Amino acid sequence: MRTMTLKTSGKPARGFTLIELLVVIAIIAVLAGLILPVLAESRRRANIVKCQTQLSQFHKGIVIWNDTHDRFSERYPDRLGTMMYDREIPDARAFLCPLDPTLGHEGGKPKSCASQYPETDEGPSINSLPSDHPYSSYLYEFNGAKCSWWSGGTTVSGVNVDRNGDGSVSWQEAKFYQQKYGDSFLYGTGYDGEYPRTWFPVVRCFWHAKNPDLTSETEIMNVAMDGNFFPSGPKWELEALKNIPK
Ligand SMILES: [Zn+2]
Repeated sequence: MRTMTLKTSGKPARGFTLIELLVVIAIIAVLAGLILPVLAESRRRANIVKCQTQLSQFHKGIVIWNDTHDRFSERYPDRLGTMMYDREIPDARAFLCPLDPTLGHEGGKPKSCASQYPETDEGPSINSLPSDHPYSSYLYEFNGAKCSWWSGGTTVSGVNVDRNGDGSVSWQEAKFYQQKYGDSFLYGTGYDGEYPRTWFPVVRCFWHAKNPDLTSETEIMNVAMDGNFFPSGPKWELEALKNIPK
């Protein structure tokens, strides 16, 4: 009787040794450690570019809104979200910065500075806004909400700040005044004179800060009245003063 032996090809199959496997894993880990931070940083930069595009859209939207509504007195929409209803910015997603992990649910500022001017926050049911109002990651400086920090009264040095004559001063009205006459009335030793429209922010994004306490002076992205971008700290006035020609 013949026995059959199963014959495999020449050499027996040889796997990786444990050491070889560990070396390969170690190399992959080192490479991943090198590449992942680079990927994360390039993604962060791409998101910043996207946010800038949106800020630029807001600037253009405001120009168009003003042109169709009140071009002679230069009025801005009372809320950023108004531009969704009026179709200048029809897509609610444009109101969200990709770096805002809350998708606009904390309003225009991260929690660490949520106590800063909550009257500017936008979103459904925030500040009695309607339920179809878009959530927003952005601080809108020309907001129509009544201004909590304004202490000048409705007339400052004979100038009427209350442009719509409703007896109170909104952010928008206070900002028009600040742009035209400076802010020494606010800070005592502030800037006296007209701020160039290049360095006067209209919409600001607070979500780019690596440090949530916003201690760095250049982490907030601003788009100015003339469409210029500039980074600043929470107090954009300091950045503006550095750039205004003496
Ligand atoms: Zn942003």
